Amino acid sequence: MIGADIGLADLPLRDDLRGRSPYGAPQLDVPVRLNTNENPYPPPPALVADVAEAVAEAAAGLHRYPDRDATELRADLARYLSAVTGVQLGVENLWAANGSNEVLQQILQAFGGPGRTALGFEPSYSMHPIIAAGTRTEWAPAPRRDDFTLDTARAAEILAARGPDVAFVTSPNNPTGGSIPLADLRELAAAAPGLLVVDEAYGEFSDQPSATRLLAEFPAKLVVSRTMSKAFAFAGGRLGYLAAAPAVVDALQLVRLPYHLSTLTQAAARAALRHADDTLRSVHALSAERDRVMESLRGLGFHVVHSDANFVLFGRFTDAHASWKSYLDAGVLVRDVGVPGHLRVTIGTPAENDAFLAASKEIVR
Ligand code: PMP
Repeated sequence: MIGADIGLADLPLRDDLRGRSPYGAPQLDVPVRLNTNENPYPPPPALVADVAEAVAEAAAGLHRYPDRDATELRADLARYLSAVTGVQLGVENLWAANGSNEVLQQILQAFGGPGRTALGFEPSYSMHPIIAAGTRTEWAPAPRRDDFTLDTARAAEILAARGPDVAFVTSPNNPTGGSIPLADLRELAAAAPGLLVVDEAYGEFSDQPSATRLLAEFPAKLVVSRTMSKAFAFAGGRLGYLAAAPAVVDALQLVRLPYHLSTLTQAAARAALRHADDTLRSVHALSAERDRVMESLRGLGFHVVHSDANFVLFGRFTDAHASWKSYLDAGVLVRDVGVPGHLRVTIGTPAENDAFLAASKEIVR
């Protein structure tokens, strides 16, 4: 193969990227895949048909660049988010990109960067520090309690003392599953001197109100990031979005690539949004399954971290990686998220969860 004889060491790569690992959830062909927090239910046939029709129509205009501002999609997202959160949001409050990862990257491109700091309460979503590294934003890890809950008073002190330009709180938190109540988010927003990004990728699975309720109180500080990848069963469509003051959206326009959201993505996402009610029905089924899995795992003697999301962190394992491999050998792909003694399982269909629970009975801890 051409070029196979050279490696990273032969390239003029940035020094600060040398020795780092890319994001790498294994994509393995295993009967039961419960490792990337996807919705296990494929989109219903009516949605698939609508997406196909919308994409076919959009394809007739592919000689032109897409709507750079994705105005109609953002208006649809504003309607959806207003309906699920009860907060009246307009098109100017919404911004969209290829997955919320791109939204988060744009936030750090605009508000982070060299000489600036982003802070997160770990363990949390592994991409936050990776995106910080990619944008040359210094990463400041801050602790959670031993039981993975957030000590809000301490977190507020840390925010005030460290003064990060951007702080991330993930609610529900990945990989631990707990949500942060609105009153606590208010305390954090009040304490944060810079931007506070509430990552609500799993928001639809939680009973806690969305941080969008606080946008009117903290318009110059608060950003709420969401995605269609999880509850919305649209991970392959790549559509993430945020809600914030219009000025935040203006700031992101300074760093976004022109035409970043393809005509096909915009058309497909709009079609999928028209089926929101149907899609979100699976959320209730998944939440009920999550509660069943948590209870069954406890019944088997596992330590289970309470989750409001579509995944559960559980343990304790003497060697989590060895146990991860045992699950794999049993045909069940779970996630070793690097939290010592623990593994994370995504909630699947009842049959997939049964297969996971059956394997759990045999796993060596
Ligand atoms: N935030 C959190 C907390 C996540 O877990 C994920 C996906 N694993 C994302 C953001 C990004 O998802 P996407 O880019 O698919 O929207």
